[in-house]
Amino acid sequence: MGLRYAHSTFFAQEEVAMPVHPELLKILVCPDDKDPVEYVQLGKEEWLVCHTCGRRYPVRDDIPVMLIEEGDRYRDEALIRRPQG
Ligand SMILES: [Zn+2]
Repeated sequence: MGLRYAHSTFFAQEEVAMPVHPELLKILVCPDDKDPVEYVQLGKEEWLVCHTCGRRYPVRDDIPVMLIEEGDRYRDEALIRRPQG
């Protein structure tokens, strides 16, 4: 399962093009726990981080790769934010 979207002419009007469409980000969830992911940019690398399970999903060619097996490869338990209380 790959998540793909087409660049639209919408971007042509923007001075700063977001690498990942903000509207797309709102609907992206971790495929494992269905929690929202956070967009993180590290240098040239782009990630979608799930703070529930610590998985990081790569963004390749502006396409988020929301696959559990990909998230597992880059999982970092330090990213997990435990609920308060
Ligand atoms: Zn998760």
